[in-house]
Amino acid sequence: MLKVSDLHAGVDSRQILRGIDLEVRSGEIHAVMGPNGSGKSTLAHVLMGRPGYEVTSGSVTLDGVELLGLAPFARAQAGLFLTFQYPIEVPGVPLASALTEALVAAGRITEAESGPLGARLSQEAAELGISPEILARPMNVDLSGGEAKRNETLQLAILRPRIAILDELDSGLDVDALGQVSRRIERATREGDPPLGVIAITHYRRLLAELPAQRVHVLSEGRIVASGGPELAEELERTGYAAYREDAGAPGGAGPGDAGPADLGLGETFLGGL
Ligand code: ADP
Ligand code: MG
Repeated sequence: MLKVSDLHAGVDSRQILRGIDLEVRSGEIHAVMGPNGSGKSTLAHVLMGRPGYEVTSGSVTLDGVELLGLAPFARAQAGLFLTFQYPIEVPGVPLASALTEALVAAGRITEAESGPLGARLSQEAAELGISPEILARPMNVDLSGGEAKRNETLQLAILRPRIAILDELDSGLDVDALGQVSRRIERATREGDPPLGVIAITHYRRLLAELPAQRVHVLSEGRIVASGGPELAEELERTGYAAYREDAGAPGGAGPGDAGPADLGLGETFLGGL
């Protein structure tokens, strides 16, 4: 279980996360939704240990082991994984080499066993619709948005983390790619020992069609201001985030039902701009 308790973090003197509590168990899928700038990516980065953020209080444990204070690679070895909203280009390093090194460094394979990894990699890549040519290319260099996100999913499939944080994995994906990556991740939440736990940061309910979240959390101004079942994502799609903003008023004021435009007429409701 990933257990986040009273997490406060920020940059310089500015608080961005203002007391996050979240528990995600193996096999569970939790969605984190919220307006732009509410702190979703910051939460992902702080959990993974990205430098530049200051954690002022709280705790983050994975199976009882405190992660705060550990370097990102140590958190990864403990079983935490992050798919980036904007995957970073790593010139000169093919994806296959990076994955082999990661597994060797974690003591999960020896150099001698990296051959069979090639076969697994090819099979996973084929399933995710990644062409073999991309595996040989430097990581994320000149990839389309869709290719980069498929690549992120491939890394997850190979590294088999315990808990994965998906930061807008669905952005930049067409419908076919979205189906492939979300089905692969959903499968990981049923297979494996232990099965994968997921924190899916997203603006769109359509990701949750293939990656069904049991719990949906609304992040606003650095706090989780509402949690519920899948119906909460449906409600957000209808109403937007207006009811969950800090200035939304006291109870008895504007409720979710009359909070915002019911239909933006975009085919899919874009929550991020509201
Ligand atoms: P979201 O992912 O929900 O859109 P972010 O976590 O990216 O939001 O950002 C939350 C707020 O924190 C924004 O106002 C953003 O400008 C600010 N922020 C995030 N990271 C940094 C940083 N490294 N330095 C300064 N401000 C930051
Ligand atoms: Mg973000």
